[in-house]
Amino acid sequence: MTSHKLNEPSVAGQSVTGQCYCGTVRFAITDFQPQLMTCHCTICQRVSAADCVSYGHSPKQNFSWLQGLQQLNYLQTSEDTQRPFCCNCGSQMPIIYEPANQVFVPAALLDEVDGFKVIGHCFVRSKKPWLQLPDDETQYEAFPG
Ligand SMILES: [Zn+2]
Repeated sequence: MTSHKLNEPSVAGQSVTGQCYCGTVRFAITDFQPQLMTCHCTICQRVSAADCVSYGHSPKQNFSWLQGLQQLNYLQTSEDTQRPFCCNCGSQMPIIYEPANQVFVPAALLDEVDGFKVIGHCFVRSKKPWLQLPDDETQYEAFPG
């Protein structure tokens, strides 16, 4: 049986850029892996007004804000987690998770997502009942680990 872990080394990464809805805030990531984890936790659902959110992840040092930093406000959703959002349009922006030195990037913000793929689902314990998950995508009750 194969299982995909969040930190599993994989194919070569690529440079990507992304932005909020209005374009005020832009960011770039180098060596970004195209494997995504879809989060079904209640925080992601509510702050994004979405059934779930698919994230890629990156070491913090590969992530940079290109513009609009002064337009960001920060929602603290746990002791360790800051969720930035654009003050102009309200888009949720990449999440900076300090303890793991990681940035979690909603793939919906990216400019190019050719070849990107969801490999797993976390917090499926709060998955919305109308969603059907494909059998080949690993499911985790909470955070993989
Ligand atoms: Zn915006």
